[in-house]
Amino acid sequence: MTSPTPPKANDAQLEAMLAKALRRHAAAPAQPDAATEPEVAEVPEAQQHCGLIAIVGKPNVGKSTLLNALVGQKVSITSRKAQTTRHRITGVRTLGKTQFVFVDTPGFQTRHGNALNRSLNKTVAGAVTDVDLVVFVVEAGRFHQEDAKVLALLPSSVPVILLANKFDLIHRRAQLAPWLREMQERHPFAEIVPMSANNARDVSRFFGICEKYLPQQPWMHGADELTDRSEKFLASEIVREKLFRLTGDELPYTSTVVIDKFEEDGRMRRIAATIVVERDGHKGMVIGEGGEKLKRIGTEARMELEKLLDAKVFLELWVKVRSGWADDDARVRSFGYE
Ligand code: GDP
Ligand code: MG
Repeated sequence: MTSPTPPKANDAQLEAMLAKALRRHAAAPAQPDAATEPEVAEVPEAQQHCGLIAIVGKPNVGKSTLLNALVGQKVSITSRKAQTTRHRITGVRTLGKTQFVFVDTPGFQTRHGNALNRSLNKTVAGAVTDVDLVVFVVEAGRFHQEDAKVLALLPSSVPVILLANKFDLIHRRAQLAPWLREMQERHPFAEIVPMSANNARDVSRFFGICEKYLPQQPWMHGADELTDRSEKFLASEIVREKLFRLTGDELPYTSTVVIDKFEEDGRMRRIAATIVVERDGHKGMVIGEGGEKLKRIGTEARMELEKLLDAKVFLELWVKVRSGWADDDARVRSFGYE
């Protein structure tokens, strides 16, 4: 045994929080799902609630998975590969009288100091001021140096919910109590919520938890709006997701996708995109034997885009080598990362 920790005044609270979380995961009576709830009724402006919620956390903790589940549609790509989210992405969900405006941010980048990562860090810092609520996502039972660096960026003026994600991966849940205690000491979190972003019931409950932090004010977006991102942006994100998923770990995250053409013609979209990689060797990885890999990336991206945009999609893909683009400020800007 290591030296005994002095008893904390909030132990009972933490035990209660843990017990509540555990009960949630027992076979509880089915609650109405966000998906089956009546979404949009006529709500007079004077009764509307609305607020900005920043979703922050180090790469790979499940921020994009959470955002997509909250919005009920894919607006942010997910992947096992770190750093797949570079942009600030807004997702909107209106339930009852409340409009939730979610902001997904890139994970805090600490390993490299190049122009791309400097731009990423500015986006993170900018995303947490000016919001009504911050959701700080970590993996349940874990807290690493990279998590601490994100936590250090959070303002004390905004309530922060600690979302202990991937709760499904914790096998002996009682062991989480000391971790919860440790977390409470790191920051005065408004709430600690152990849950799984890929569990629909947890996600629908999460709306109720966030709701009380959002002020009474008119909605900022249309009631059926899901994202303020353009179709063109979504197209580049989907291609990028397929690129990362189908090339596996070999392709460096610095490769990117540029949309060269996006033409809308009724229920038809003509899209041309260039996958920009850093080296000739990477180009081969993307194209694959006999062009097989690139063809698959294109087919999967097209099928997903057709569903997402509810349109017929023609997608043309190119691969180009631009060595060192991630180190060049001007070029990073020209690819749309401010
Ligand atoms: P981000 O980098 O923080 O945006 O993380 P992603 O949303 O891309 O997720 C990273 C990985 O974690 C993906 O493989 C997800 O499927 C996985 N993941 C996300 N949430 C959960 C969860 O609640 N439970 C489990 N087991 N995996 C999850
Ligand atoms: Mg992400």
